Amino acid sequence: MKKLLLIATGGTIASKFTESGLAPQLNAEELLSYVPTAREFCTIDTIQPFSLDSTNVNAAHWIQLAGLIEKNYENYDGFVICHGTDTMAFTAAALSYLIQNNRRPVVITGAQKPIDLAITDARSNLLDSLRFASHDKAHGVTIVFGGKVICGTRAKKEFSKSYNAFSSINYPAIASIHDERIIFYIDDKNQCTAPLQFYHNMNERIFLLKLIPGINGKVLDALMDSHDGLMIESFGVGGLPNYGDDSFLKALDKWISSGKLVALATQVTHEGSDMSVYQVGKVIKDRFQVLESYDMTLEASVTKMMWVLGQSREPGKCREMFYKTVNHDLLFL
Ligand code: ASP
Repeated sequence: MKKLLLIATGGTIASKFTESGLAPQLNAEELLSYVPTAREFCTIDTIQPFSLDSTNVNAAHWIQLAGLIEKNYENYDGFVICHGTDTMAFTAAALSYLIQNNRRPVVITGAQKPIDLAITDARSNLLDSLRFASHDKAHGVTIVFGGKVICGTRAKKEFSKSYNAFSSINYPAIASIHDERIIFYIDDKNQCTAPLQFYHNMNERIFLLKLIPGINGKVLDALMDSHDGLMIESFGVGGLPNYGDDSFLKALDKWISSGKLVALATQVTHEGSDMSVYQVGKVIKDRFQVLESYDMTLEASVTKMMWVLGQSREPGKCREMFYKTVNHDLLFL
């Protein structure tokens, strides 16, 4: 039998109704009591590092979770993290960068409905996660939700209420789970031969700017001192507006010449960026050392920039790290 560590962190799965709305109340042992059959195929220890609505989860929590897994890595065959769904895709991407080349599974799950309700997705999601984490072929950071296993860098919450909340973006699902059966679409554990590596730093001084028609590049001046990295959520395959005042060009010049990292991503969920297509993108790329997200999700791009800037402030090194494929996050290059 596989030995797993269940790490509970709050979220809807652990929530109960209170006078001020749903809030996490159940601890890890209580969650486990709703899926008694799990003990038929694995042994499970539990731990509760924090209990939060995931709206309140930040980089310090990601580092705490990665540290907990590092400390317990040799004692368990796999890890299951119960987490709120709202920022789950960010946590899954962040853990993919903080824990690399892991041949053991780190499975993140949660639910759209609390586990103590009669009708809920929580019990099946938790049971599926424990089952997947017990499988010999499972490895790396993944999200298990709604019967799908999604690579940790490829998940996006696309539905705010449906059980089918998460999609795998620009990459196939790793596996699907139906009752007791797991069907693998990607079976690549044997290709994971590089040494396991944990990282311990993230830089939260990143700003994500979503473009809207008519936005003035001067907004970036006010953000410069308090940030080390800028991700611009651009339109379509990628470009920056120029209304004749060069406001974005001037702002980019200041950010990049002061050694900060600037990257363009796209507001379009599927298929990614390609700044070389249109003049509005190509002139920017030709003139500045701007990075682009290509097929990475927004959640992966943002947390990757936090990870990169947590390791180095040297632009060449940052560029190299940003474009290194980690946990299947980037295929387009
Ligand atoms: N607000 C909740 C959270 O992210 C939503 C959920 O878990 O589904 O913690």
